[in-house]
Amino acid sequence: MQAQASAIATTATDPTMATSRQAEDNIKIIEGDIMISQTHQSQMLNGQAAAASAASIYWPNGTVYYSLSVDYTASEADYIESSLQELQLYVGSAVQFKRVSPGEAADYIEVYSGSGCSSFVGRQTGPQWLSLQRGVCLQKYIIQHEFMHALGFWHEQSRADRDHSVVIWWSNIDSG
Ligand SMILES: [Zn+2]
Repeated sequence: MQAQASAIATTATDPTMATSRQAEDNIKIIEGDIMISQTHQSQMLNGQAAAASAASIYWPNGTVYYSLSVDYTASEADYIESSLQELQLYVGSAVQFKRVSPGEAADYIEVYSGSGCSSFVGRQTGPQWLSLQRGVCLQKYIIQHEFMHALGFWHEQSRADRDHSVVIWWSNIDSG
């Protein structure tokens, strides 16, 4: 693990790039792996984001365009692609993942090896980042998890209707 980590540090320029990219756009990470822009965050605090995002975060015709950074090896790129093919089986034909070159589609997910694994929730405008750090995030379930965010899913525990489906047995919880 140590050797792997230092190999990444010496061969990839991305971790620092990720930091500067995130700083440029004032991107924050919430709930561990969700990217959010400062503008969107202040809209959320003002309660303006819900209505706007409900209509605009979905991908037209269910077509989700993505590009893969040149930092990935051919086999890593294949692995990401096959993970998405598998995800497509789970979500059904309503969603199709299409790999494009950067800029080939107006709105697309730019997958790169940043620091850690993270994604925006739903479609943004223009290119949007999805970080899958080499040696850390290239596992099927992580790749699929991050792309689920890009499709528009939040974590289950963040759902607005969460409290309707959960019963908390306070008597079973020790105090302190
Ligand atoms: Zn997540």
